[in-house]
Amino acid sequence: MSAIEARLDALPRARLGLLPTPLAPAAALGAATGVPGLWIKHDELIGYGFGGNKIRGLELLLADARAHDADLLVTGAGAQSNHVRATAVCAAGAGLQCIAVYWGSRPAVVQGNLRLTELVGGQTEFTGDPDRAAVDRAIEQTAARARAAGRRPYAIPRGGACALGVLGHVLAVRELLHQCKESGLQPRHIVLAVGSGATLAGWLLGSAWLGASWRIHGVSVSRPAAEVRGRVVALAAEAAALLDAAAAIVEADVPVRDDFIGPGYGLPSGAGDRAIALSARCQGLFLDPTYTGKACAGLQAMAAEGRFADGGPVIFLHTGGEPALFADPTRSAS
Ligand SMILES: *Cc1c(COP(=O)(O)O)cnc(C)c1O
Repeated sequence: MSAIEARLDALPRARLGLLPTPLAPAAALGAATGVPGLWIKHDELIGYGFGGNKIRGLELLLADARAHDADLLVTGAGAQSNHVRATAVCAAGAGLQCIAVYWGSRPAVVQGNLRLTELVGGQTEFTGDPDRAAVDRAIEQTAARARAAGRRPYAIPRGGACALGVLGHVLAVRELLHQCKESGLQPRHIVLAVGSGATLAGWLLGSAWLGASWRIHGVSVSRPAAEVRGRVVALAAEAAALLDAAAAIVEADVPVRDDFIGPGYGLPSGAGDRAIALSARCQGLFLDPTYTGKACAGLQAMAAEGRFADGGPVIFLHTGGEPALFADPTRSAS
C-alpha cells in the first residue's frame, strides 16, 4: 500500500454509504447515446436517504464533526440542494441537529429535496437574498449565533466543497479501482457532472495518486469552465495539504466543458431533459435535471465528437439527485 493510501485509511470515517456502490453495464443507454462499452458507477444507490455523491464527503465530515464534539451541523445552498438534504439525513442518523441555510425566500410549495430535509428534522432558514454566494457568509453567521447560544456547531461549506469533501471522492477512486481489478474491467474514460468542483477535484487527485490510467471528462452544470478550473485546482491543493501530499494538478489539466449548462444552474435544459427521457425509456434509469441529465447530454455529445473512438469502456458516474424529479422548478425557488 502506498503512503498516500495509508494516510487515507487513517482518516476518521463514519460508515454511512452502502459501499462499494454497484458498477454495472448500461448497454441499452450506451447504444442509444452512441457510447461504446458504457458502464454506470451507481452512487445514486449509495443509500442514506436517496444518497448521491455527497455521502462520500459526509463520511469524513461527520467523523470530523464528532471529533470536534459537535452537536449541530450547519450548511446551506439552494432549496433543492442534494448536499443539504444529504447533510440533514446524516445529522438525523447520527443524532445531531442540522440547520440548513438557503438563498432566496421560502418557496410557496415545499417539495423535492426541501421536503426531505424538513422531513428528517432539518431546521430551515432563508437568507432572503437571491445571491448564491451570500449563503457562504450566512452559514458562518448562523454557526456563530449557535455558538454564542452555547451550541457546538460544525459548519460545512456549500456543496461540501472543502478538503475533507474532496478526500471522500479520492476514496471513491480507490473503490472503483478495486472493483475494476476484481472484474478485469479496464475503463478508458470517466464522465461526471461538475457543480462545486469537489467531486472532480477528488477524482483527479485520486486518479493521479493511485495511478489510474483513465481519462476524466467533467461536464459543468453551473460555472464557466475557467472558473471550474480555478476552483478545482484550489480544492485539490487544500485536500492534498491535509494529507501532506503533493497536489500536482494545474488548471490546464482540469478536463471540463461548459456547453451543457443550459439556462443556468438548477434550471432544466432541453438537452438535459432529452437525456433524462432517453435514459428512463431505454434503460429504466432515472437521471436528474440539475446534474446527471446534463452530464449525460454531454456524454452523448462526446461520443458524437469521436472522443470514445478507442472503443471504451466508458464509466458514467451517476452522482444521484433524483429527488429533484419530484420538484416542479416553476413552483420552487432553488
Ligand atoms: C453535488 C452534485 C454533483 C456535483 O458535485 P460537486 O462536487 O459539487 O461538483 C453531481 N451530481 C449530483 C447529483 C450532485 O448532487
